[in-house]
Amino acid sequence: MYGYLERGLLVASLIALIWQARNLLAFNRALQSDDFDAFRIGDGLWPQIFSRFTFEQERAARRKREYRRLLKEVRRSIDALPDGAVVLDENNDIVVCNRAAKQLAGLKRKKDRGTRIDNLLRDPKLAGLLAADDYTQTIEIVSPVVDGKWLKCRAVPYGAGKTLLILRDITERKRLSKMRRDFVANASHELRSPLTVISGYLDSLAEDQSLPSDWAHPVKQMKGQAVRMNRIVEELLELSRLESSGAAGTDDVVDVAKLLASAREDAFREGKTARIDVFVESTAQLRGSVDEIESVIVNLLANAVRHTPVDGKIVATWRPDADGDGAELVVEDNGEGIDSMYHSRLTERFFRVDKGRARKDGGVGLGLAIVKHVLSRHEAELSLESALGEGSTFICRFPSSRVVIDPPIPLVGERSNA
Ligand code: ADP
Repeated sequence: MYGYLERGLLVASLIALIWQARNLLAFNRALQSDDFDAFRIGDGLWPQIFSRFTFEQERAARRKREYRRLLKEVRRSIDALPDGAVVLDENNDIVVCNRAAKQLAGLKRKKDRGTRIDNLLRDPKLAGLLAADDYTQTIEIVSPVVDGKWLKCRAVPYGAGKTLLILRDITERKRLSKMRRDFVANASHELRSPLTVISGYLDSLAEDQSLPSDWAHPVKQMKGQAVRMNRIVEELLELSRLESSGAAGTDDVVDVAKLLASAREDAFREGKTARIDVFVESTAQLRGSVDEIESVIVNLLANAVRHTPVDGKIVATWRPDADGDGAELVVEDNGEGIDSMYHSRLTERFFRVDKGRARKDGGVGLGLAIVKHVLSRHEAELSLESALGEGSTFICRFPSSRVVIDPPIPLVGERSNA
């Protein structure tokens, strides 16, 4: 027996090895065929391995089912959203989109996957929106599939380089604001003729020598109010015109320096005013509407005159912007200034900080609304630096696309520290 011990051990080990190898092969076969009924479990560790494996497999299957259910739930809720939602990768290729994106913009979940969004929604503003870093920005585009439908687009970044493009139907809002605009324009237009008649009669009455003397004051007041109403009507009509037209044309070139000089002269001619200095520090001219830019300059200068004491100082400057490729029109005064709590409301129609005083001054509260609209038609922005008692600085920033250097305009004035 002792003589056969080594051989016996060898044979026993070989048998054990073959048995393990057989089980291993059977397990591998079962793994490949996914048929574990055919896999006969041996003794030892194999039943444990097998039961652990089937347990993990069932757990994974349960998880998969749960994820699938969740995915379906998420997809269903995204499809239920009234807004279009489009997920874009870092190249702005479509990854996935919801049902509303199909209804609003004609995007198809399967067919359009992997296609660049700007190949399907061909609006240069959309490319600008996706390229911009400012994710608070929104644009309005026309739907490529539904006639007359307007979409508001917003791009929200998420994940690694991904963007969620949200498309909102704003057709109804557009329709309502057009109705409001039309109503204001029509009402103003209708008021024009009766106002002309009333003003005419009031003029005649004012000149009528036979009028009792106690009528003189009321007639004068009525005349003043008629003039004021006329101004309101004209400015409302001007606002309606600005609102309903697109961007200002770029064919005309505006000589800002010339307009500044003539607005300064007019301000002096109209009555008492603080000192007004004009500086032209940019040789650039503007592409846009001469009349509209003139109304910006006149409005800003008139406001500065109205809110600056006669011993104060007003400075109007035309200069290159901080980046050097655009230009800025700056109207600065050292007058009464504006409390910061009112800054955001100044361009609202009929907003005046001190209504009673503005009425006496002849302000109707539409000047800055007109300025804002003209600037937006020239892709320019209005900003304000002001504090109560510390004067005001209104800055109109024009982009390089609106600025033309050739032919250059001559520079005027040199700043002194005085
Ligand atoms: P208004 O016809 O009354 O001047 P605007 O729209 O031009 O209307 O201005 C709105 C209000 O903003 C004014 O009533 C005034 O209170 C304030 N404002 C505008 N410009 C200035 C300024 N340079 N200094 C102080 N307040 C100003």
